[in-house]
Amino acid sequence: MRLYNYHTHTQYCDGHNTVAEMAKAAVDQGFEVIGFTPHSPIIIPSPCNMKAEDVPAYLDDVRRANEMYAPECRFLAGMEIDYLDKDFNASSQYFVDLDLDFAISSVHFIPAQGGEYIDIDGKYERFARNMREHFHDDLRYVVNTYFSQSMDMLHQGGFTILGHFDKIALNGAAHDPDLEQHGWYIDLVQDYIREIEKSGVTIEINTKAKETFGRFFPNELYWPQLVEARVPIVVNSDAHYADRLNASRGAALQRLAELGYAVS
Ligand SMILES: [Zn+2]
Ligand SMILES: [Zn+2]
Repeated sequence: MRLYNYHTHTQYCDGHNTVAEMAKAAVDQGFEVIGFTPHSPIIIPSPCNMKAEDVPAYLDDVRRANEMYAPECRFLAGMEIDYLDKDFNASSQYFVDLDLDFAISSVHFIPAQGGEYIDIDGKYERFARNMREHFHDDLRYVVNTYFSQSMDMLHQGGFTILGHFDKIALNGAAHDPDLEQHGWYIDLVQDYIREIEKSGVTIEINTKAKETFGRFFPNELYWPQLVEARVPIVVNSDAHYADRLNASRGAALQRLAELGYAVS
């Protein structure tokens, strides 16, 4: 099987290696396709997102990687684009004009009750603080809003791969270990999965947190129904380090094969 990874961060955002270092590591590890996906430029303050002024240098770096390693490995210039609202998302003219090779779209920021966009990704300590300081400690509001934003993102389109579609479960379940057993949570996820199935969009199985938190995104619980519904799936490591490009991808691919998914 062709070794690929369509979710790869570098120093242009919060990754720890340069494009050149990631490219060399990819070739050394036998990858044939790597999609680079820096966190997109964004209109709210965020140290984790790339700066708009760095985009030309980023695109140049990916072009150079292709020149260096063709035809062994192909490097795609993509982004992991944040969904904020109807005016800022993967279908916005700004991103269309960048003419990227592909895009992942993800929800990392959601509007708090007061309207301010707050990061729900990242370390739990910060999430817990944001719960107190911005979300009135209302986990149901946070989870509801995460999925309504996700639903809007799906309808808005403009991207190739839907990023880690239940990522909120990581911090959400750290806050309430029973989160994924609540009927209202199950309804939100099932509504979203039905919409994903209808849309025909490609989803990722994101393996980034498997080693550290024992969890894939989406949760393995939902894989049988995703496979049954023939949802197109790619398996991505969401690597922020060169030595993690292939982390836990094998385990996910094996599990998918066991479920009868025709992994290509
Ligand atoms: Zn992400
Ligand atoms: Zn990512």
